[in-house]
Amino acid sequence: MWRAGRASQGRVWGSAAATCAQSAQMGVICSTNAARLAYGLNKARRRVLARRPVQPGGAVYCGRTRERLVALTFDDGPSGFNTESIVRLLGAHGARATFFVVGREAESHTDVLRRTVEAGHELGNHTFNHRPTAKLTSRDVIDELRRTSEAIEKATGMETQLARPPWGNGSRDFAEAGRVLGLTTVLWSLDSGDALGFSAPDVARHVVAGTCSGHIVLLHDGSFKRDTTLAALETIITGLDGYRFVTVSELLAAQSF
Ligand SMILES: [Zn+2]
Repeated sequence: MWRAGRASQGRVWGSAAATCAQSAQMGVICSTNAARLAYGLNKARRRVLARRPVQPGGAVYCGRTRERLVALTFDDGPSGFNTESIVRLLGAHGARATFFVVGREAESHTDVLRRTVEAGHELGNHTFNHRPTAKLTSRDVIDELRRTSEAIEKATGMETQLARPPWGNGSRDFAEAGRVLGLTTVLWSLDSGDALGFSAPDVARHVVAGTCSGHIVLLHDGSFKRDTTLAALETIITGLDGYRFVTVSELLAAQSF
């Protein structure tokens, strides 16, 4: 049973596993229901959206595939505390992931960023200052994204194709701004809860129970020491035996319906 810190979270997190099973029963392998339930959409609307990985706001929530693929994503790094431990753990299991990096952190930890790319992981743009983009003009959002893409390219030589707004907020306007720079906005279909004060075993149980093919899972490697994330990650990877852990771009390239 998923233990929630707040009543409203309990409904959201508790629903994820059931939603996944229902989706599989309906033949809808890719489910964005976990994300949609969080926004309180009604059943009919959920059913319509269940068949659309790209939402009306232009953000991608998950991949539509029948292959057992899952994309782990890590936000807010690169971090001198966590990123390399996470990269090592992923590498030990042959798992790849996508790191949505904050531009100012990318400028401070260029070595970490370069080693993350060398280990086969993908980088996404998570804005330069991690400010609430809904409060910014579209020009400022574009500037935040441009500076971050430039920092990533300078450190790694890689051009990023993906972006994610801080806290996942304001995705419609954010997606518009991202499109100006050729960036696809990516949210998630399963929030691990690692940034919400849950224990590592609870986070791991929640992700293992809630994951199905095509899911994009939200985790964090930035801001402060992420012992919970690191401890949960090993259990998540071993618990999802039979799944292949791919980058978001690989997941989207594998869309089969
Ligand atoms: Zn963030």
